[in-house]
Amino acid sequence: MTHDFTDQSVLITGGTRGIGRALVEAFAGAGARVAFTYRSSTDAAEELRSTLKNNGTDVLVFQGDVAEMSAAEEAVEGVTEAWDSLDVLVNNAGIARDGLMLRLGEDDWDAVIETNLKSVFNFSKAAYMPMMRQRAGRIVNLSSVVGVMGNPGQTNYAASKAGIIGFTKSMAKELGQRGVTVNAVAPGYVQTDMTGALDDEQRETILENVPLDRLASTDDVAQAVLFLASDAASYVTGHVLHVDGGLAM
Ligand code: NDP
Repeated sequence: MTHDFTDQSVLITGGTRGIGRALVEAFAGAGARVAFTYRSSTDAAEELRSTLKNNGTDVLVFQGDVAEMSAAEEAVEGVTEAWDSLDVLVNNAGIARDGLMLRLGEDDWDAVIETNLKSVFNFSKAAYMPMMRQRAGRIVNLSSVVGVMGNPGQTNYAASKAGIIGFTKSMAKELGQRGVTVNAVAPGYVQTDMTGALDDEQRETILENVPLDRLASTDDVAQAVLFLASDAASYVTGHVLHVDGGLAM
């Protein structure tokens, strides 16, 4: 299904690679004005900015650490000052720092919780007032199948992704009367840098439990996010959409 985001302002965290990049391209292809953030991939960010501009897309780029509230405020203010509205926020940026509990360090715990979960608070809080004033808005958060099922070696990551689900449902209840929907997408294993470290054996083990018998493409996830951000999903809020080939059911 194609969705039309003409004249809508979309902000995506972590737009330089993987799912975030697919989101930037999909929203731009659907006619949106697109702002994205990144932390360290400056060359990729510049390349993406100029590709979008050459294709006629209005684009804004913000460098910063999503774990910092100031980065969220700067991005949201930048979007609303330039474009007068913030219609869609996608909280996508995330990291994994895996390790069994025996070896998992406090720094691994803090980095994952702050990057994956606190960032969602930061950007949602910054977007809250503009969307309340507009009495309209869409927030879509990237959770994970791991936040639903758990996974050995990923206590920190699973906790961050399960936290996003509780946050999403609570925000949905707070903002429903203001016309703002808040949903989450829970992808299974997607082919990106984050899963690039899987060896063949790990990949085979995962696929044994995926009825659709393949990893997800970044576009599989992007299309689910576009649906939740679109008019077609105007009566959907507080939902966790599994995009995992049937892995979690
Ligand atoms: P990638 O590692 O491919 O890309 C991560 C993106 O997030 C990059 O653009 C990166 O910017 C940005 N980012 C990371 N940390 C920060 C930070 N502290 N501040 C700002 N930006 C940051 O990730 P994926 O595309 O694989 O994952 C995207 C989301 O989807 C994540 O939330 C992930 O947990 C979730 N997910 C992924 C799955 C998968 O199988 N890949 C499965 C389920 C969920 P930079 O390039 O500058 O580093």
